[in-house]
Formats: sequence, structure tokens, C-alpha cells
Amino acid sequence: MKKFRELIRYLMREELQIQHRLINIFLIIGTAALFFCLIYDIFLGTAKSSFWIMGLLILSFILSLLIANKWNKPNAAGIILSVVANYFLMPLLYIVDGGKESGMPLWLTLAALFVWLVVDGWPCLVIYIGDIILFSSLIIYEYYHPEFVNRLSSRHDEYVDYIIGIAAVVLIFGAIFKFESRVYERKRQELEEKEKELTEINLSLEQANEAKSIFLARMSHEIRTPINAVIGMNEIIMRESAERNIIGYASNIETASHTLLSLINDILDFSKIESGLMKIVPDEYDTYDLIRECYTLLDMRARDKGLTLKLEYNEKLPSVLKGDEVRIRQIITNLLSNAVKYTDNGSITFDVDFVKKADDRIDLIIRVTDTGRGISEEGMKTIFDSFSRADERQNRNIEGTGLGLSITKQLIDLMEGSIDVKSEYGRGSEFTAVIPQTAVSPEPMGDFWTKYNAGEGTGENYHESFKAPDARILVVDDVSVNLKIFTLLLKNTEVMIDTADSGARGLELYKENHYDMIFLDHMMPQMDGIETFEEIRKTDRYKSERTPVVVLTANAIEGADKEYLAIGFTDYLTKPVQSDELERVIVKLLPDEMVFVADR
Ligand code: ADP
Repeated sequence: MKKFRELIRYLMREELQIQHRLINIFLIIGTAALFFCLIYDIFLGTAKSSFWIMGLLILSFILSLLIANKWNKPNAAGIILSVVANYFLMPLLYIVDGGKESGMPLWLTLAALFVWLVVDGWPCLVIYIGDIILFSSLIIYEYYHPEFVNRLSSRHDEYVDYIIGIAAVVLIFGAIFKFESRVYERKRQELEEKEKELTEINLSLEQANEAKSIFLARMSHEIRTPINAVIGMNEIIMRESAERNIIGYASNIETASHTLLSLINDILDFSKIESGLMKIVPDEYDTYDLIRECYTLLDMRARDKGLTLKLEYNEKLPSVLKGDEVRIRQIITNLLSNAVKYTDNGSITFDVDFVKKADDRIDLIIRVTDTGRGISEEGMKTIFDSFSRADERQNRNIEGTGLGLSITKQLIDLMEGSIDVKSEYGRGSEFTAVIPQTAVSPEPMGDFWTKYNAGEGTGENYHESFKAPDARILVVDDVSVNLKIFTLLLKNTEVMIDTADSGARGLELYKENHYDMIFLDHMMPQMDGIETFEEIRKTDRYKSERTPVVVLTANAIEGADKEYLAIGFTDYLTKPVQSDELERVIVKLLPDEMVFVADR
């Protein structure tokens, strides 16, 4: 008995394919049922002529079990048994053991179904068609020649044979269905568990990713605060110093701190893109301004390296476009600074063109070509990957993180544009970005240089744009050096400035004094800028005076600018505060009679 159980377990082991196990189920139960019928026939002494055929059938079942399991050929076993049993032994048994009045039609049905169960592909169809032709011929033949078929000896035997047939068919197919549904249920449970595991893994990955993004955002904010102080203080030094060498040192500090700031911004942008927080914020912008800002910024850097920056543009470019100007400027400056970085001599061409798409839709085409080091074929494969730098050996003396192009590409993807690069190692590269934009004004931009020479250039020495000796302003920031820079930046404007190093202190001052404007830093411990603003709004003074309140925000929350206006702030300024921006906001928000605009 133990051996028998072991044999069954061996024939039904998990490693076998489902179809193989199905064949085994069929063969085991089939052999058992045939044995039972044989013993029954012997016991009753009926239809002795069928003993031999039954014996052969049992033999072919056992042989098939061997072929399927010893030689591991289940499909061959299925085909052999189907052919031997269905085409020879079963029709013979039909003739000698009862014909259609016995259990034989049920056994024939079982034999035909067996083919579907164990044989694959076209052999299944061929054997099945053969079965049907053969079985129906037998029945038809019996109809015309009933004497040809051996009926069972009594009606009683016919009924018993019939019942055995039903029991065997139901048993075999019942067992197969049960087996299949058990397999299905087990697989379903396994799948459910795997899914659960995957969801848990996903969740912890998401949490880890979120933690990384929050960490990066916090770190960049923390690092940006002192850099802002360096940039601000440095600007005061450059403004106030008359000594050439001091101004020289300060301008070196300026370059270095801006490099540091753009590095931090890259890391922050990267983490924003990774966590899906980067949003494209379309707004109207002036095409000439965009080109001028990018050109002047990079022209200086190119000259410092002894390179020429050539500008080529299409005069018909629409003068006002709609898109995310900040991100487009970032894309252009990334491409231009790379060109300057990776070119040792020669020139860089900055080409701005467009293609009209639909009524107000255009493709803005930015092409940056350089005569620099070029990129090897190997390097080309990875230049758009994060943290990947091409041709490390050749470029080892050049600083970089390998983030610029990856961010550029992802920003362009977010804007549904494309970027393409052609490069010849040692001779130069050409990057072409195509960015869909909306043309707001069809009026062409016109001649760039006429506007540029008409005084819209940069590089002038600082000169305050206004004076407002009667205006009184409150500035709230928890970092004292920021307050100092703010005060120094406005020194020449003669505005009276009160400072507070916390939201609570700011609120106190506001209640005690009249102010014409308030500047509130957003990120402050305890009461932050928004909470302070909420408290200010509750005061009677605010209700009657409606003092303009400007929020000072770090780049980290760029894109949230619109939300500040929705909260109720009058305006916002991004840090590090640029003196021209600061003056522009003050002139805009102070009552006209207080402001004396300076002649330039
Ligand atoms: P990196 O901070 O290293 O400059 P980027 O992502 O901006 O990172 O660029 C990836 C790599 O592509 C660079 O390391 C450089 O090898 C290559 N590369 C980018 N622009 C140029 C160019 N104009 N000329 C030659 N190589 C370039």
C-alpha cells in the first residue's frame, strides 16, 4: 500500500507539467476501471471473448504510463494510446462486448475525449476526426447488421455495464476537473502572494525614493541659504569697493558661487524629475528677452575662454511666445555652457529658428554648434543618462556631474519636444532641440542687434533705479545675514527698513507701526511666512491698510509661485534676491507719490 501511494505521489509530482499529470490521472484511473470491468466480467462469466481485448487494453495503458514516465514522453504516450486503443481495441471491444446497448458508447466517448486532453496540435485533430468516422461507422453498421455485434447476454448485464460506464466516465473527468481547479487555485494563491510582496516592495521603494527626494530638497535648501548670503554680500562688496583687485577677487567669488548654485539647482531638479514633481508652467514671454539673456550670459563666458559666440536667428520669430520660459532658458544655457566647456578654441554658434505648425503653434528650434572636442561613438550612447559623463579620459580636466544633459532631455520630453545630437570626435558637436510653443503675437521679433544696441544690453554698473525716503518697509527672515543683504541692497534707495528675525516678531512690529510694504520669507522655523501672513491678515491694521505683502521663496518651490498669489500674497521674489528684481517690485507696489524714479 505504501509503495502504491509512493508510486501515485511520484506520478503526480509538482515538477511535472500539468498536461503530463493529466495524462497520468487518466491512465491510472482508466487502468483501475478496466481492471474492475475485467474482474467483473470474469466473475459473472459473461462475454469471455472480450477478456483478451480488455487484457490488451490494460497492457496498452500500462505501456503508455511507462512511455510517459520512464522515458518522459507524455505526448508520444498519448498519441500511441489514442491510435492503438481508439482505432483497434475499442472498436473490437464494441463488436464483441455489447454494442450500443451496453456501456460501450460511453467508453467510446471517453476515448475520444482522451485525445483532446492529451494530444496537441494537428495530431489531435487528425486522430479525433478518425475516431468520429470510425465510431459512427460502427454504429451505422450495427444498425444495418445487428447480427454482426455481440449483445450482452441479458438486459440486466447491459444495464450494469451501462452504470459502470457512467461511473468510470464521471470518475475520470471529475478527478481531472478537481485536479485542474486545485492547480488553478494554488496558482492563483501564489500569484496573490507574489502581488502582495510586489506591492510591499513597491511601497518601500517609493518610500525610499520619497525620502531621498525630501533629503535632497532639504539639503539643497540648506546649502542654498549660505550661498545666497555669499552672493548677496559679494554683490555689496563689488558695489562699494573702488579697488580694482578687490573687485577682481569678488568677481571670482561671484563666478564660483554661481557655479555652486547651479550645481545645487541641478541636483534639486534631478530629484524633482525623479519623483515626478517637475511641472511645466507655461506663461507668456518675450522671445527677444529670452535670446538676449542666454546670449549675454554665455557670451561673457565664451570670451573669458577666448572663444567667439555667434548668434544666428530668424527675424520672423514670433515676438511673444507662450511656454515655460524658465525651463527653456535652462535648456539653452545647459547646451551653451556645455559647448563653451568642451571647446578649447574656435567658435560656438547659437542658432534660434522656428517652424510653423498650426495657426498659433510653432516648433522652436534651438541649435548649438561648437568646434570643440566632440563626442566618441561610445560616449554618444550614454550622454543623456543621469550622472554619466562621456570620454572621461579626454575630459578629465573639465568639471561636471553628468546631470546637465539628462535634465535637459527630460525637460524637453516633458514639453513634448525632442533633442538630437551629431558629433565628430575631435572636431565638434551639434545639439538640436525642437520645442513646441504657442505663438501669442504673430508680430515678428525683427532685428536682434537693433534692439540690443538700443540700450537693452547688460554690463552696466549698478545704479539705483529709484529713491523713496518716505517709504517704510518691513522684512522678515530668520537668517540674519539675509536681512543684512536685503538692507544693503536697498541702501542707495533711502527706503526705511525694519527687520524681524521671526514671524512672531514681524507680527509684533506690524501691529505697532505703519508699513508701506512687507517682505516675508517663506521657510522659517516656528511660524513660517504663510502662517505669519495669515496672522497679519487677521489684524485690524491689515483690514484697513491692505499692506502689500511679498513672499520671498527659494528655488526649491519654484512652480508653486502661482499658489502664493492664490493664497493672497501680492507678489513673490525668488532667492537669491536680485537687486534689479527687488527694486522693480518695490517701484510697482509702493504708492506713486513716494517713489522718485532715477534718471539713468
Ligand atoms: P557634464 O556635467 O559632465 O557636462 P552633461 O550631462 O551636461 O554633464 O553632459 C554629459 C556628457 O556629454 C559630458 O560629460 C560630455 O562628455 C558630453 N558633452 C556634452 N556636451 C558636449 C559638447 N558640446 N561637446 C563635447 N562633449 C559634450
